[in-house]
Amino acid sequence: MRSPSVFLFAFMQLATVAAQVRIERIEPPHWWVGMKQRCLEIMVYGKNIGNCRVSMQPHQGVQLIETIHPQNVNYLFLELDISPEASPGTLSFTFTSADGRQTIVSYLLKARQSPANRIQGFGPQDVIYLIMPDRFANGNPANDNIAGMREKADRKAPFGRHGGDLEGIIQHLDYLQSLGVTALWLNPVLENDMPTASYHGYAITDFYNIDRRLGGNETYRQLIDQCHQRGIKIIKDMVMNHCGLYHWWMQDLPYPDWIHQFSQFTRSNYRLATLSDPHASQQDRILMNTGWFDTTMPDLNQRNPRLATYLIQNTLWWIEEFGIDGIRMDTYPYPDPEFMARWASRVLEEYPQFNIVGEVWIHSAAMEAYWLKGTHNRDGYRSALPSVTDFPLFEAIAPALNEPTGWNSGLARLYHVLAEDFLYENPSNNLIFLDNHDVTRFATAVGEHIGKIKMGIAFLLTTRGIPQIYYGTEIGMTGDGGFHPDVRKDFPGGWSGDPLNAFTPQGRTDLQNEIWNYLSTLARWRKNKTVIHTGKLTHFIPAEEAYVYFRHNENEAVMVVLHNGNQSKTLETKRFQEIIGKFRQGKEVVSQKIYNDLSKIDLPAHSALVIELMQ
Ligand code: CA
Repeated sequence: MRSPSVFLFAFMQLATVAAQVRIERIEPPHWWVGMKQRCLEIMVYGKNIGNCRVSMQPHQGVQLIETIHPQNVNYLFLELDISPEASPGTLSFTFTSADGRQTIVSYLLKARQSPANRIQGFGPQDVIYLIMPDRFANGNPANDNIAGMREKADRKAPFGRHGGDLEGIIQHLDYLQSLGVTALWLNPVLENDMPTASYHGYAITDFYNIDRRLGGNETYRQLIDQCHQRGIKIIKDMVMNHCGLYHWWMQDLPYPDWIHQFSQFTRSNYRLATLSDPHASQQDRILMNTGWFDTTMPDLNQRNPRLATYLIQNTLWWIEEFGIDGIRMDTYPYPDPEFMARWASRVLEEYPQFNIVGEVWIHSAAMEAYWLKGTHNRDGYRSALPSVTDFPLFEAIAPALNEPTGWNSGLARLYHVLAEDFLYENPSNNLIFLDNHDVTRFATAVGEHIGKIKMGIAFLLTTRGIPQIYYGTEIGMTGDGGFHPDVRKDFPGGWSGDPLNAFTPQGRTDLQNEIWNYLSTLARWRKNKTVIHTGKLTHFIPAEEAYVYFRHNENEAVMVVLHNGNQSKTLETKRFQEIIGKFRQGKEVVSQKIYNDLSKIDLPAHSALVIELMQ
């Protein structure tokens, strides 16, 4: 049963609805003139709406090409042609029922927003901060519970909603800016009107509305506008693979093949490898793409052409309407691969400066590269995706710091993963991370060892790629990824009455301040260091617990030393002459220590040095 308030919200989006034909939803709720592709497909939902004939009042440059009647009589799809000469304004559709009654529906065609370059994309110049909005800060306790929505807040429940929201993020933009963050990736913020565990956001029940417990569409707009005023970008987490079981269309699908249906619950095998494996069985491949991600997440069938168009338009709508700067696409290999290539091409055709990172959770660089633009796969698959989550590098970092360094172990793991970068068209566009919402927190992964935590942070912020920090990593939050809520705890100080407020130096322990200051110093320094964003990476074979690499261009060089020995020692730098030879001095970025003699460098036990070299 849809609640009265939800119905009212949908109802209000329609400019004019008479009583005779009840139209509940029109999606997209509006569109624009001047998009690069002129076709638009509007989905209309309402009881017996499919029995209506639809006509459109003449409007300059716009034609109603076709009215599509799916099997389900409660849906219609209107195909429009919007020419480049079309004027913005309000379209007027007349729905005529079988017994001759008429209903007029208005539909807004907006002018596109300017300037055209307001959408920035993101890249190696950024430091991305990942937030699970329900768990960061509760800026508005009044929205914790919304009448008619299924799940109520319960901060004591590990899988419950805790009340965090977009207002809470807005209230801490100063904090994020002082940390050196330049982009925010929020876990999905679309409505998740699920009965339980709706806090994580991946079971979407409405593709056009931000969850009202997070603040709704208007607060999302405020967040984006305030971020943009501060030079912070917004990356939207999207899901094309599945929706939530309580999505409004699940009670009344437009087509039987809108989702993948089975005689009994059928789970994906989660084996991404089957899609690039030349030896994979058809059975395994099909199950990978069509099985459900979870019992609460019906698997969408992007081979249904109406759904494919729906999803592509939905993405364009969010970019154009809100000016988001990038997308993190959940479970990238799980939807139909051909569809995903078409989707990414269409988005980048409209917004060439945009960036998209696909979540590809796989254990080898070759299988990451399979999903990227520019990779010429032998099976003919051509992706259009510009960036992937670099899981092979992530999986190397903690062992690199926990093991003794040998031929293949310890620090040599970092060396070997990066040595496979020849597989990528642009490895600098890989998203790199120490942890995220699905895995063990970094501090826990390295035994809460302060030296190793700093080494990981230094590596993340100086090697190639787009660094992403998970909220709380800057204060060494702990948690085991084997139990999701353990890595999704509330940020201390985000709720009024919290005993500690880690948003302020006074509210952090000495150890937390040490991590915070280290990370923020490097993040802020990095912001204007083009040599870190675009400079060449040259690394040397790790030896004697030291991994040395340089980021360099014609004018500048930065030397990074990760030393994981138990004892302090002196590093002879003769081996690095091909780069260091041009320089006479150096300055360590965090300690500000000056090195007047670069021939020998003292390395404390378990330490990182980031040294700007000077002539
Ligand atoms: Ca709240």
